[in-house]
Amino acid sequence: MSGRVLVVDDVATNRLLLRAKLSSAYYDVVVAENGTQALEMARREQPDMVMLDVMMPDMDGFAVCEALKASSETAHIPVIMVTALDTPEERIRGLEAGADDFLSKPFNDLALFARVRNLMRMKMMFDELRLRDMTSRELGIVDLVPEPEVGIEASGAILLAPPNPGDGHVWAGQLRRRLAVPTIVTHSEREALNLARMELPDCFVVHQSLAEGGDGLRLVSALRSRPETRQAAVILVVENGDVQTAAKGLDLGASDYIESPFDVSELIARIRSQLRRKRYSDRLRTNLRNGLKLAVTDPLTGIYNRRYASQHMNRVMERARDTDGVFAVMMIDLDKFKSINDRHGHDAGDAVLREFSRRLQENIRGVDLVARFGGEEFFVAMPDVDQRAAAHAAERIRRAVEGAPVALPGGGEVKVTVSIGVAIATASDLDAEAIIKRADTALYSSKEAGRNRVSFFAKAA
Ligand SMILES: [Mg+2]
Repeated sequence: MSGRVLVVDDVATNRLLLRAKLSSAYYDVVVAENGTQALEMARREQPDMVMLDVMMPDMDGFAVCEALKASSETAHIPVIMVTALDTPEERIRGLEAGADDFLSKPFNDLALFARVRNLMRMKMMFDELRLRDMTSRELGIVDLVPEPEVGIEASGAILLAPPNPGDGHVWAGQLRRRLAVPTIVTHSEREALNLARMELPDCFVVHQSLAEGGDGLRLVSALRSRPETRQAAVILVVENGDVQTAAKGLDLGASDYIESPFDVSELIARIRSQLRRKRYSDRLRTNLRNGLKLAVTDPLTGIYNRRYASQHMNRVMERARDTDGVFAVMMIDLDKFKSINDRHGHDAGDAVLREFSRRLQENIRGVDLVARFGGEEFFVAMPDVDQRAAAHAAERIRRAVEGAPVALPGGGEVKVTVSIGVAIATASDLDAEAIIKRADTALYSSKEAGRNRVSFFAKAA
């Protein structure tokens, strides 16, 4: 997997060193020598990752990181802070600034490349989501930026898988003193997976070796392969200096790792950073779902559009074939709608459409599908409904509209009626458009016969 890395360092030899290492692994490298230039390059070059020196004369690495994370153009780019002083305080400060990881100079190549691969993979996942999210943004949904401050308390429980009961007790105690979050301690892989399914924690802290000969790496891999935990934050705890295991864990999909024994403040900062990332991806996914919903619904009435109804008809027909059943299709048209628009204005017309779709939905069953086909034309598909039941339903809809005038937004009200055409289809009907056409023909008969009535399609002899 290749990608573009922006290397930021005020010292030329450091830039050259990193460029050489990364280029040898076929990454495309661009460099900046100070914070201002880094921000400009990040925006222009859109790298897949930033490796950021902490100590720089104009803006230090923390300030650059904060600025990158505060802009919607660069917030999604992972940042690795590169530091000579590797202290927990410094790591915590970096995590709070939004950094994804730290590397200390001189570099350990294994740690460097495992981290780069892991962050590249995460970046690709985000890119995919962001790409799809563009559609929603084009449709007017607000742009998303990761939240700078994430309340760990708002998330679910944290599941701890320590190497032994003693450590489990210590971990849970330390977290409890600092956070008002429930912690669940488990000692076996199997129990961890069962608890994961029941409790759905947002975050897992897993030691490389679990009690009873359990394997932390295997647990990480299992958590990543299951749909219910795939998006959770997983932090691997490795023995101090065990870069091999850390690298393997990252390649298996751990979101992050921490070396044991750890400072609990650093663990909390890492959890917070992972949850921030998780929350961002959750919001992108939600946005995507909303975007999809927008693509198949009519914005005025909130009911489905024709595109969705056509797909849905295939399912209704399949069901009729499977059960050798029947179903009904209705086309409904508001009578003399044009004159309502002409006389009372388009706002009044819109109000009538909304009120009609509300009454329509009130008078059908949950399994029936209602869609607006465009203009004042509506569609209903009713599975398992025969001619008698369809006549009853159509008549109920007609009366619900005729029964009470519609209040207009500017005051006053207007009387509205509908014409309805119904077609009954059977298991042998294979063409959705043909069925809709029959309902349309029946609708035309209702109009011809004087409107405000229900007609059935009568087979031509
Ligand atoms: Mg420096």
